[in-house]
Amino acid sequence: MDQQAVQQAAQLINQAHHVVALTGAGHSTPSGVPDFRSTGSGLWSRVDPMVVASIEVFQQYPRAFFDWSRPLTRLIMDAQPNAAHVALARLEHMGKLKAVITQNIDELHQRAGSRRVLELHGHMRESTCRQCGQVVATETFLDEWLATGNVPYCECGGILKPNVILFGEMLPRDVLAAAQVEAMACDLMLVIGSSLTVMPAATFPEIALERNVPVIILNRDPTHYDQRATVVMHDDLEITLPAIVAAFEELGNKER
Ligand SMILES: [Zn+2]
Repeated sequence: MDQQAVQQAAQLINQAHHVVALTGAGHSTPSGVPDFRSTGSGLWSRVDPMVVASIEVFQQYPRAFFDWSRPLTRLIMDAQPNAAHVALARLEHMGKLKAVITQNIDELHQRAGSRRVLELHGHMRESTCRQCGQVVATETFLDEWLATGNVPYCECGGILKPNVILFGEMLPRDVLAAAQVEAMACDLMLVIGSSLTVMPAATFPEIALERNVPVIILNRDPTHYDQRATVVMHDDLEITLPAIVAAFEELGNKER
């Protein structure tokens, strides 16, 4: 691990007053949650998530969506926040981090203690009836669905769709607006575990960079924004982020 980069990132956090983090699938892969958007190996190799996790397929063949998402949901429920989630929550509790903008639907940030989480792709906590619009807590049908695989129905007979944003659906407008406000307000942006290829994720570092706000990128693979970032680290983020937060805390202790 590049200790100089760790120190530089810690200095940037120390100087900043309004840090905003943007997190993607890579933040949760060390917790065992796969990047379901990319066709990879194992469970997800047989189907294209762009098709089965699209609103068109959900409308026509809801069963296909529920069958596909069942093992993924089990993995999410069993997953535990990793050291990077914990470090990010700590940064918020110390008053530095003002918001986490996330592409993840697994709620691991909240479970690690993060309070202000802007979920661009929605969440599993609630589900909405496609027919009458009633919103119910997903836990009302979760166990039965996981046990039986039966498609969940509302009292009115409509199908209940978890409030996750499927391909072909609009992102939640209020969340998107709040995330844009944060990107406009931040004086340091952390990009963690996002390849910055899915829109609108890439627009947030773009907003920051256009305002000459420094950007720190922690991601396994290179991104299109690496050249313009102040610090870039490709090591495992569950090691780099806790190291950066610890180095920042040490700086604070020295100054006190
Ligand atoms: Zn209904």
